[in-house]
Amino acid sequence: MQIKRLTSRKILNSNSNFTIEVKLDTERGSFRGSSPAGESTSKYEVSQFSGGLDSVIIKFNEFLSRLKSKKVDTINDIFEIERNISQEFIGGPSLSLSYALIYGLSNDLGIEPYELFGGKNHMMPICKVLGGGVHASGLSMDIQEILVTTMAENINESVEGTLAVYKDVKEELKSKSAGFLGGVDPEGGFVTGLDNYESLALVKKSVGKISKERGLDIRIGVDVAASTFFKDGKYNYKKPIYGKRSITREEQSDLIVKLADEFDIYYIEDPVDEDFPEGYKYVKDHTKALVVGDDMTATVTERLEKAYSSINSTLIKPNQVGTLEKVVEYSKLADKYGLIKVMSHRSEETPISIITDIGVGLAAKYLKVGINRGERTEKINRLMELN
Ligand code: PEP
Ligand code: MG
Repeated sequence: MQIKRLTSRKILNSNSNFTIEVKLDTERGSFRGSSPAGESTSKYEVSQFSGGLDSVIIKFNEFLSRLKSKKVDTINDIFEIERNISQEFIGGPSLSLSYALIYGLSNDLGIEPYELFGGKNHMMPICKVLGGGVHASGLSMDIQEILVTTMAENINESVEGTLAVYKDVKEELKSKSAGFLGGVDPEGGFVTGLDNYESLALVKKSVGKISKERGLDIRIGVDVAASTFFKDGKYNYKKPIYGKRSITREEQSDLIVKLADEFDIYYIEDPVDEDFPEGYKYVKDHTKALVVGDDMTATVTERLEKAYSSINSTLIKPNQVGTLEKVVEYSKLADKYGLIKVMSHRSEETPISIITDIGVGLAAKYLKVGINRGERTEKINRLMELN
């Protein structure tokens, strides 16, 4: 493939903030890449735009114009371009460029984007049902996310089972929760006035009901995103759990183990703050759950090298590290340590479904994504297409 023209511009993301989109023109057509952002970020992830977006775009367009006529024939050529991007553009600009190139190259080669990363591996959805924490502007439960996944082998069956739980939860909220007005957070999770415990109990009830109706093994997950309410050595709950409001790291680790036991939680992301791997390990050693690093590991290999033994699973969010070469390196390292990989959306997404392709190619076991809102369903729809 030969690059005819590359340009960037600003576009809106799904949470009404601006981000960058790169458009690639080749002999065969136009291809677009755009990058997401997070509302709840790790301190170890790259910043998406160093300096203001407008000035970044002006400078990045100068860099892009220098790529005119360049030939890109393999994913390694894309990695090579990434290596020549100056640090100030690593994040939103670099990733948007790489995504546009992936779409252009796969089209040129007559293959699917996932084939540039690996084979057609089996990835299952894990979807958000209730939203809290910073995603719900601090107005709902402290736990950022309650999620649902299934043990089904078939993707469509899993999506249908998860959707049935999502809809059942909505019906329950409509009839039992006076403050519920039908709203969802940026990832499509319902925002309610329930506290942490009540929220888990509600989802557990729907999971039990739908599991029975469908003869399907459905499980609960949580993203505690504990760093978001950790300050000065204490986790500060607005809505106390088990009567606890302000607790230490050790108490938090114990509390999560107790919750996992009571609600049979299968997936636990960021149970403690990002600088406390011992807490992740404690939860791993005292539950049967997937204990997932997100804020602690931030898709950064150096972070994973330090923390791999405290978890059994890791999120992969490409924009946390900003280049595809580093994402692929991270994925290989996760494989080396036998970790289950979870490809993830961000709270502020763009409409493209490329994370689905990357996750399938890299053999992630799960795709963490919302089951409501177009920018999320696009990613699930792509997953069902690859079923
Ligand atoms: C998360 O924390 O896992 C998440 C998807 O949210 P954000 O994009 O806000 O980090
Ligand atoms: Mg998270």
